[in-house]
Amino acid sequence: MQLQVDLFYIRSMNYKATKDFALSLDVEDELSKYRQQFHIPLQKNGKEYIYFCGNSLGLQPKKTKEFVDQEIKDWANLGVEGHLYAKNPWLPYHEFLSQSYANLLGAKTTEVVAMNTLTVNLHLMIVSFYRPTPERYKIVIEEDAFPSDIYAVESQIKHHGIDIEKALIKLRPRKGESIVRTEDIIDVFENEGDSISLVMLGGVNYYTGQVFDFKNITAVAHNKGIKVGFDLAHAVGNINLELHKWDVDFAVWCSYKYLNSGPGSVGGIFVHEKYHNSDLPRFCGWWGHNKSDRFDMPDSFNPIKTAEGWQLSNPPILSLAAIRSSLAIFDEVGMEKLVFKSK
Ligand SMILES: *Cc1c(COP(=O)(O)O)cnc(C)c1O
Repeated sequence: MQLQVDLFYIRSMNYKATKDFALSLDVEDELSKYRQQFHIPLQKNGKEYIYFCGNSLGLQPKKTKEFVDQEIKDWANLGVEGHLYAKNPWLPYHEFLSQSYANLLGAKTTEVVAMNTLTVNLHLMIVSFYRPTPERYKIVIEEDAFPSDIYAVESQIKHHGIDIEKALIKLRPRKGESIVRTEDIIDVFENEGDSISLVMLGGVNYYTGQVFDFKNITAVAHNKGIKVGFDLAHAVGNINLELHKWDVDFAVWCSYKYLNSGPGSVGGIFVHEKYHNSDLPRFCGWWGHNKSDRFDMPDSFNPIKTAEGWQLSNPPILSLAAIRSSLAIFDEVGMEKLVFKSK
């Protein structure tokens, strides 16, 4: 890595805005070969598009078909028995993604699980982490947050019978500036912290590209007794994350943008391990129930003591298979090299 970094500085000192210079960088780029591992759409003239829309829908890895076909085949050959006897048994299938997700998020494997879709997960997390009282009931969000996040947060406030005008604090950049200063966020915590229940930010803002200072924001918020959640739609697979170390309370993400898992594919959650044995209220479903007696169909819910305890339903395997095909590439490359190249 150090060698690469040095090379980077040497090259940038000799920077030239020429095609030859760009091509010479490509020759040195050990990741350029990964381009071959994705289907790249063609223009009408038969040339490949230059695809800058991975922030909306990532391209399909060529291996995805193989991963999905495996499950299609096992379903055809095994029917319901695939839950136990498929090559990759469906019963624990979501667990096959945990290590890769833990690597991407800087989390323990017990702190992450693939489930549902992003906005659904956002609601489930807010249900657990937004516990308004008459004194502490406010939520902090970016003014230009993705609309779905605003709708989710506002509807949760309303659900508790609280006035949105009073409860929602929107962070905005200073006049003439385009991103929100960390010091201004901290000021909000210092001034209104005692009445704030939750801060819910995009890890990377979808519109401005601002990377929020996860570590400081979380530390200062916690000092004030505020819970901290991040929406990682534009962060996962894009920037280095250390959610466990930064002590983030929860996070949610989708996998079809930077993680290239296909339209509408399954999202995920991170719940810090300090909550795994807590009595946080949650919306429950059978897939979150203790695995050892789930199929005894007991009447009372006993959650798995990991992030998996927030699962509701048995997950769509075809979608998880597509995610695995892409995570395999991330496993091979690693975020360090990806971030280096992006810079
Ligand atoms: C893409 C995106 C969403 C989309 O939500 P879905 O529930 O996956 O449709 C929500 N929030 C943010 C910040 C996004 O970037």
